[in-house]
Amino acid sequence: MDLRSLESLGIVVCQETPLSDFTTFRLGGNCPALILCQSPEQIQKVISCLVFEDLPFLVIGSGSNIVVSDRGIDQYVVRYASEVPLIERDGNDVIVSGSTMLDALAQYAGEHGLEGLSDMNGIPGTVAGAVIGNAGAFGKQVGDVVTSVHVLDRGGRKFERLPAELGFSYRYSNLKKTRDIIVSVRFSLFPGDTDALQRRREEVLKIRREKHPDLSVFPCAGSFFRNIEPTSKAGKREAAGWFLEQAGALTMSLGGAKVFERHANMIYKSEGCRAQDVYELSRLMARAVKEKFGLDLVREVSFVGKFDDMPASVADIVW
Ligand SMILES: Cc1cc2nc3c(=O)[nH]c(=O)nc-3n(C[C@H](O)[C@H](O)[C@H](O)COP(=O)(O)OP(=O)(O)OC[C@H]3O[C@@H](n4cnc5c(N)ncnc54)[C@H](O)[C@@H]3O)c2cc1C
Repeated sequence: MDLRSLESLGIVVCQETPLSDFTTFRLGGNCPALILCQSPEQIQKVISCLVFEDLPFLVIGSGSNIVVSDRGIDQYVVRYASEVPLIERDGNDVIVSGSTMLDALAQYAGEHGLEGLSDMNGIPGTVAGAVIGNAGAFGKQVGDVVTSVHVLDRGGRKFERLPAELGFSYRYSNLKKTRDIIVSVRFSLFPGDTDALQRRREEVLKIRREKHPDLSVFPCAGSFFRNIEPTSKAGKREAAGWFLEQAGALTMSLGGAKVFERHANMIYKSEGCRAQDVYELSRLMARAVKEKFGLDLVREVSFVGKFDDMPASVADIVW
């Protein structure tokens, strides 16, 4: 691929780059080239170049929900993330680039008296990463307020996807299956009181500071497993962390991968940790819950690339 044509558009291309520098777990080997895009125009250009050259690629956001293999991956990696929010207001709607950080969007909404995203304050990651996995907190999910998503399919063609096709459910959207690339998202919000929204933001950030690891000390990818589906009609989703704690996960570690002492559903990287350690520790944790409760935990975090002892049926780069 003629990478220079991309660089002339302000797109940064880093050859043979360690992905550990671009994930919150701070793990992962090299990719042949990492292409950094920030705006819808840039990602559209990059994807059309990659499709034209028939080069396999992976799109990531801020890397806060993935564990990349120590061996890296053979594909080009397109990182679509921007520290500068790209948000356009249209009445109570906002049209946001997928590269915008979700927290920056939640803050913007609060400051502009728009309700619907206040529980999303403080979730790390991009808007695109959040929409793909229907991120959420306090019982709310981003999919609740998404009204359309502009995507590119794997052939680089543009489409608008509406909620009926997006199939949002707990930590899931159909985009995981179609592997569409999210370019921008329309959210329909509703009027709220700016002072109340600001108070809610502070409250949510305080709760998150108390419960979640400080990423600069404990690199991780948040909750490792999804919460458990309710077993009765009246039942609430049950925290995977509770089952893990009862199964003895709090004291588990493997190599440099450790379970966070305040939250049994979080694995963090300590000195000398490899991505393989995280993979193996997560299997130990899931096995302990299966043995004690007969429950099969489902991962929330995705593995990217190849890991030792990974089932042979796993062919894709994101698993
Ligand atoms: C400390 C901590 C706390 C967290 N708390 C929460 C929480 O409360 N709730 C919650 O839901 N999650 C939480 N997370 C997980 C994570 O932040 C979210 O899942 C986030 O939305 C992921 O966004 P990302 O940009 O980092 O995606 P990435 O990790 O970069 O990617 C995730 C997936 O999305 C795909 N993807 C990314 N961008 C695109 C795109 N433009 N087009 C197509 N595919 C794309 C990737 O290929 C990958 O499969 C937490 C993580 C951490 C580290």
